Amino acid sequence: MKDIVGRFAPSPSGRMHLGNIYTALLSWLSVKSRGGKWILRIEDLDPQRSKMEFAGQIEDDLHWLGLEWDEGGLDGKGPNGPYVQSQRHQFYEKALEKLKETGLCYPCTCTRADILATQAPHESDGRVVYKGKCRPEKMPSPYIDKPGAAIRLMVPDEEITFTDRIKGKQTVNLARHCGDFIIRRGDGAWSYQLAVVVDDALMGVTEVMRGDDLLLSAAQQIYLYRLLGFTPPEFAHVPLVCNEAGIRLSKRDKSLSMEYLRAHHTPEEILGMAAHRAHLIPSPRAISLSELLGNEHCSFI
Ligand code: GLU
Repeated sequence: MKDIVGRFAPSPSGRMHLGNIYTALLSWLSVKSRGGKWILRIEDLDPQRSKMEFAGQIEDDLHWLGLEWDEGGLDGKGPNGPYVQSQRHQFYEKALEKLKETGLCYPCTCTRADILATQAPHESDGRVVYKGKCRPEKMPSPYIDKPGAAIRLMVPDEEITFTDRIKGKQTVNLARHCGDFIIRRGDGAWSYQLAVVVDDALMGVTEVMRGDDLLLSAAQQIYLYRLLGFTPPEFAHVPLVCNEAGIRLSKRDKSLSMEYLRAHHTPEEILGMAAHRAHLIPSPRAISLSELLGNEHCSFI
């Protein structure tokens, strides 16, 4: 049987909140209850929003909760490092070369305003679907470099079907729901979609558990896995944790941020809050990781 490898891939753009802990805990339990390995990868591709001090804080919060990782982190322990995306350019570069060889990449100079102007209302639940303004008439075609342009990848009018462990069977039409998407931004920053696929594949990740705001991205990622010749992992998208107003938690919800939580609760109490939200325990109470691992619901995650 293939070894189970899961991962937690936070973006270091602020202090973690209960929602991040919830995802980390479920992913950790899913992997650890089956004897697998858990990787911590720092997703700091956005140079404007990412700060190393936040990455250090994320590690400190995970240690404090007892959510230890087997591979990864800032000191890069393990055979598939580095585990910080800003240090992994050479892997993304190689993947880009491979994608260019397919003839499906093209330079794009559209601004966000251009894209919004050609957007029909109510398409793809609020997501902006690119209409192909810069796409060459004939595709596939060789990539012609245009300095300063973003690099986009053409998607076919084709359905991607996959079974999410939590959400069940999903069918996504790439052209209609996603559109041609960016692989590398005009300023040279790598796209999340490319980096996450390259990293999960090269790190041997077999299951991707994360928030369900990324469910649609899984289809784009499966498409990339296919073009790059990698095997996709199993996907499991968990519902996002909401605040009292029913809005997904953000860094602004101070009372559920780790800064506040750590000042007022023990690690076991915080684990209990996350476990309760995941319906692993009927009411929020202090609970240890070893007790959670023995929880009969754990195997259903
Ligand atoms: N870095 C992403 C985030 O913090 C998660 C990406 C993923 O798990 O695929 O939202």
